Amino acid sequence: MFDHPSFDAHEGVHLFHDAASGMRCIIAVHSTHLGPAAGGCRMWDYKTGDAHLTDALRLSQGMSLKNAMAGLKLGGGKAVIWGDPRKDKSPELFTAFGRAVESLAGKYYTAEDVGIDVADIEISAKETDYVAGLHSTGAAASGDPSPITAIGVYRGILECAKRAFGSADLNGKRVAVQGVGSVGGDVARHLAKAGADVFITDISKEDLSAVKADTDAQIVGIDEIYDLDVDIFSPNALGAVVNESTLDRLKAKVIAGGANNQLIAPEMGELLRRKDILYAPDYVINGGGIINVAAEISGDYSRDWVDGKVDALMQTLGALLDEALSTGTPTNLVADKIALRRIGRG
Ligand code: NAD
Repeated sequence: MFDHPSFDAHEGVHLFHDAASGMRCIIAVHSTHLGPAAGGCRMWDYKTGDAHLTDALRLSQGMSLKNAMAGLKLGGGKAVIWGDPRKDKSPELFTAFGRAVESLAGKYYTAEDVGIDVADIEISAKETDYVAGLHSTGAAASGDPSPITAIGVYRGILECAKRAFGSADLNGKRVAVQGVGSVGGDVARHLAKAGADVFITDISKEDLSAVKADTDAQIVGIDEIYDLDVDIFSPNALGAVVNESTLDRLKAKVIAGGANNQLIAPEMGELLRRKDILYAPDYVINGGGIINVAAEISGDYSRDWVDGKVDALMQTLGALLDEALSTGTPTNLVADKIALRRIGRG
């Protein structure tokens, strides 16, 4: 465990198993330097235990950096349940998950991520207070964080467009959106409203149809998305989509999307820079949702506070893009430098 390539000095990595419901879950707590760790819960059908662990560690580390960049008094952590969200969900499983979160006594707050919706997390909330992204907590409730994440991603795309194309006008810009679930679906809608020519792909026919019903986006194949002659590529599905095999296929001048861990390795940032592709560091551009969750964790949800924090995050993104462009440094490394300093690991 301590030698795992993605371990990165995690403060704690907790494995939970519930025999009755079959729940298998890892809760990784990367850092509590800025406050209790917070990060969503993902449910995914991993092929191996190592893939499960690697995802938990990488996502948890990403949350430390994300929360720091969003200016939140929260550390970084993530819960990852091993299972197929289409087949393996049950009330018992989310009850067991709630007990697992509770056992950490506030060291980690959970919320929704890929494969998990508000109804699931409401079940867990019966077992623990350390959960957000709920509808049931009255005035403090923040609900699904995805719409705010999508607003942040869309605004981040505008910040990139200003720098890459000299204007934030997306009218006629060609944008490829990979993944049109909770976040990507709204990103595609915002882009279409701004007049962009939007291309969408997803493994889910229902998600594609939902976006198609609201926009005139063009549906393309899962693999075809990498070869499109577009101005902007927006990854909103899973991680590691910028890798050795996709790098030479991508023609966009901007990569900006909500997916976590888009680069298969940090070195990809330099390769993107050399290709003159402006990359919006994922954990900066997708911080809107955790800001919304943080408002609920504070016990006093205010949309004005959330909007103010998202404004500040966009300024941070703009400033780091400018620093990267003026110094010839990969954008991901500029972001890492700032975030690591904030979590006391600079
Ligand atoms: P989601 O499950 O609602 O959507 C993900 C979509 O990606 C689904 O429609 C799925 O079918 C699709 N997909 C999966 N594999 C694919 C593939 N190979 N090609 C194309 N599409 C594929 O999840 P979400 O909440 O929208 O999250 C999307 C990404 O954004 C994730 O990486 C997540 O970690 C990240 N993120 C989400 C939030 C949030 O507020 N929900 C916040 C920050 C980051």
